[in-house]
Amino acid sequence: MKKIYGNKYLLSTLNNMRKNNRLAQSVIFYGEKGSGKKLFADYYASLLLCESPDDNGPCGKCPACRNVNSGTHPDVYHVASEGKLEGYTVKIAREVSKDVFIKPNNNTARKIYIFRDCHNITVQAQNALLKLIEEPPPYACFIFTAESKSEFLPTIISRCVCFGVSVCTEEEAAHSLTDSGFGKEEISAAINCFHGNIGRCTGYILDDNVRKQVDLTKRITNSIIRRDEYELNAAFFTLGNNRNDIHEILSMIDSLIRDAAILSRDSSAGTIGCFKEASIKLSDMLTVYQAVSIHNAIEKGCRAIEANVNGSLVLAGVCADIMEIIA
Ligand SMILES: [Zn+2]
Repeated sequence: MKKIYGNKYLLSTLNNMRKNNRLAQSVIFYGEKGSGKKLFADYYASLLLCESPDDNGPCGKCPACRNVNSGTHPDVYHVASEGKLEGYTVKIAREVSKDVFIKPNNNTARKIYIFRDCHNITVQAQNALLKLIEEPPPYACFIFTAESKSEFLPTIISRCVCFGVSVCTEEEAAHSLTDSGFGKEEISAAINCFHGNIGRCTGYILDDNVRKQVDLTKRITNSIIRRDEYELNAAFFTLGNNRNDIHEILSMIDSLIRDAAILSRDSSAGTIGCFKEASIKLSDMLTVYQAVSIHNAIEKGCRAIEANVNGSLVLAGVCADIMEIIA
């Protein structure tokens, strides 16, 4: 069983639900990227399938736990998203609806469907799943993960039990990363950028692209601080039309702007961004109104990216908006 760090209250809630035989058939785990939603989806599947769970959760040792852990349990279906936007479409929802009613082979079996990263689950897909979630066959369970509950229709939310997954403290993250065998220096650099977010810290250590994204975010932020429009455009330009990178970098800049707004009120406040030195400088140069305006411009950019607008076009717009706000 992969160890879960932090989120003690959530773990005990889930364990109590199992103990009282009240595990819900449809659940949503929501929380920021890297906070451990997928771990919780697997944990929940293990709670449903473990052959000898106790008050502390699934045993982690039985064949069911081991298979869930390795992603090979025959009763756990990882529903694949499709297309450039990695979405869940009505076609996928209908396939699941048909599959659910094929009874599992033996009486003790379950059918657990995990829909990961529902940042693009269409309204039609949700409507197609609605009836199923309302009255699922007794053996079926649906687990959704998403960054925010707002990805789902109110009708879906009202039929699911929703659990918020929180990022850990920096101490818990350090503990987890040490247990994973990483070195002191790389852990400290990762936590400096991504704080208690274990998933993102791990990405920073292992994935070149994440470090590149952080470097580019720093370059962009420095050019905002210097009010250097040419450099800001040039830095954005290197992203081309890579939607994933654009989205990541825009949200990292957004966190720095959020930090700047908070630091301008309270210089000792905790930060969430990847570049505290820049947030301190931004907090001196931006009014809260300007910070909110930049946040709105970035959010507008993110929405356009999600709506499949050309990346270069979106970034040119964001750049122009930012320069106008800080002029
Ligand atoms: Zn087990």
